[in-house]
Amino acid sequence: MENKKVFIHANTTEMSKKIEAKLRSKLVKSGLRVYEDLDADTELIICVGGDGTLLYMLHENDFPETPIVGVNTGHLGFFQEILPEKIDDFIFNYNQGNYEIQAYYTAFATVVTDHGTFTHTALNEIAVKGEPTYPVNLNISINESFIERFSGDGICVATPAGSTGYNYSLGGSIVDPRLNLLQVTPIAPMNSIAYRSFTSSILLPDNDKLMVLPCDDTDRRLTVIFDGRLSEYDDVISITIGLSDRKVNLVRFDNADFWEKVKGKFL
Ligand code: NAP
Ligand code: MN
Repeated sequence: MENKKVFIHANTTEMSKKIEAKLRSKLVKSGLRVYEDLDADTELIICVGGDGTLLYMLHENDFPETPIVGVNTGHLGFFQEILPEKIDDFIFNYNQGNYEIQAYYTAFATVVTDHGTFTHTALNEIAVKGEPTYPVNLNISINESFIERFSGDGICVATPAGSTGYNYSLGGSIVDPRLNLLQVTPIAPMNSIAYRSFTSSILLPDNDKLMVLPCDDTDRRLTVIFDGRLSEYDDVISITIGLSDRKVNLVRFDNADFWEKVKGKFL
């Protein structure tokens, strides 16, 4: 049997570069092959950095379904499983097959405009916003049945993976990644006798689709933000958001449960 092929993506900090070099030599010594590019034969992707590095790698490589493990040299590192001082344990356990794959759902957005249709994928969230200085008015429906007219800064639609990111700062709930759902959280919703919309998050089961329609001509200039990346659109007709079939497969070594990790990073 041929040795397994590994691809390393590191961010550009000094610390990450040092860890990447160390990792590379240890992986090769253990019999793995380290390649400069990601292709169909790659069996493991190692991301050296923070959560942002993992998100960057995913977006640069069109969301590969190859198993991914993160070595945390970043700030928070919620996705990043391995501490730099535990590289030897990681390589040993990987070669022994002592790991599990945790599949994370991603979200998609299909943006239909007068000028064409555009699609985005996100691991954390897709947010829809209007002009930075004005509230935006959006008609929101679920599976084509009308729910509300939203007025405010926008909405954030988070996957379980993204529930601890922007969603959490907006007052959304932290979701166990075993649940396949989307959480729709209002961003600064207006509520008065003139405007009325939900003030809490709402949850959608995995096959449901959220549809966002600009209410007025002035609401047709919209910004779609996917994992912190931004696309601006004019003349929007509709934006449909749902869970995608494309999964991100993270390699997990310890059985430390989800809430232990949440406590460790947030409390
Ligand atoms: P960034 O500006 O470095 O991200 C902000 C922080 O969010 C970083 O500490 C990052 O971790 C952390 N983070 C990323 N994904 C997370 C997750 N699923 N759970 C918990 N924390 C997470 O930019 P970035 O690293 O490219 O991350 C993009 C993400 O930032 C977006 O997808 C969004 O979730 C989040 N964000 C949050 C706010 C907010 O809370 N007000 C605003 C905009 C964006 P690392 O330090 O390990 O990179
Ligand atoms: Mn970051």
